Amino acid sequence: MRQRRSCPGCAHHWAWLLGDGRFKCRSCGRVYTWLSVWDASRLSEHDKRKLLEFFVLGVPAYRARFRAPCSRPTTERFYRQVRAVMAMHEELAEPF
Ligand SMILES: [Zn+2]
Repeated sequence: MRQRRSCPGCAHHWAWLLGDGRFKCRSCGRVYTWLSVWDASRLSEHDKRKLLEFFVLGVPAYRARFRAPCSRPTTERFYRQVRAVMAMHEELAEPF
């Protein structure tokens, strides 16, 4: 299926639509999605807002493990994604 959006890896405009809603580049084979990080997360809206609140308050994942709505690895992954998005927004080469 032809898509208008280009591959983030090689900027090729032709991609297959996979069964799970992601795209696969016909040139380099990279699998990618156009969902935002917020929408791509499978956590509930309440859990994401709670984790974001902990992140903004500076609570480390290992300290939030008893109050966070999900496990420590999930919290760490969410924090990592938030840092990556912030770095992308600030146009940094790598997140902090
Ligand atoms: Zn590509």
